Amino acid sequence: MKNNNKIWLNELTWKDTEDHLKKDDIILFPIGSTEEHGLAGPLGLDSYVAISLAEDVAKKTGVLSTPPLWFGNSSHHMGFAGTISLRLDTLINVVRDVCISLAKHGFKKILIINGHKYSNLPALIGATHELHENELKDVFFAVIDPMKIGATIAKKIKQENEHHAGELEISEIMYKYPDLIKKELLDSENVNMKEIFSDFIADDLFGGGGDSMDISWNSEEQKKFTKTGAISNAKFASAEKGKEYHEHMVNNIVKLIEWLRVNKKD
Ligand SMILES: [Zn+2]
Repeated sequence: MKNNNKIWLNELTWKDTEDHLKKDDIILFPIGSTEEHGLAGPLGLDSYVAISLAEDVAKKTGVLSTPPLWFGNSSHHMGFAGTISLRLDTLINVVRDVCISLAKHGFKKILIINGHKYSNLPALIGATHELHENELKDVFFAVIDPMKIGATIAKKIKQENEHHAGELEISEIMYKYPDLIKKELLDSENVNMKEIFSDFIADDLFGGGGDSMDISWNSEEQKKFTKTGAISNAKFASAEKGKEYHEHMVNNIVKLIEWLRVNKKD
């Protein structure tokens, strides 16, 4: 299924791609962000999450991946240097144009791997839902996010509430790109989100805590309530946890691809 062991579309020629499409019509589309991740994490952390998942899934299955989209919706992080944010409608339009292009060439199963959790999801889910209803009825879409494919393993291995720049996403990068985490600067304090935004704020992205509501905050507020940019505690982060978390998610995506190959052959 693989083409010279290359997994990135950008490394193939158009002819390689045309040949690959005769055998396989599944493609991964990794999307992250370029935004602050506290004092210890790189700006590209969410993109590295999406890239590493795409890369390991592609190696195991022979599917191709588009080049990553390094930008997402990060407006609330704009108080911190280096953050680059796409507006919601820009992100929706980028996703729409990429998917329409892929489908035109014959990719019939588009699996978006999102490394940026909540903040990208309205755009990604909204865009794919609409495409599937209207222009691309024949394309199978999945939006794959760590909050959902990592849900069961997260509950088992994390020791703290997981929010922005938290234990698990830092652990995953410690495992995949150890040189990118400044271990000596891992945050040791959680922001008390409930004190600032009421008991209804979700302060654990993996669903810990009680009933919740989506409450907005902006970049000026965020700059005030977190000095480092991190929201949750990553002091228990480790490469071992990152490996377990990462491999769990890779295996889930591989299972979806195996299922597609049996059940959605067309
Ligand atoms: Zn992140």
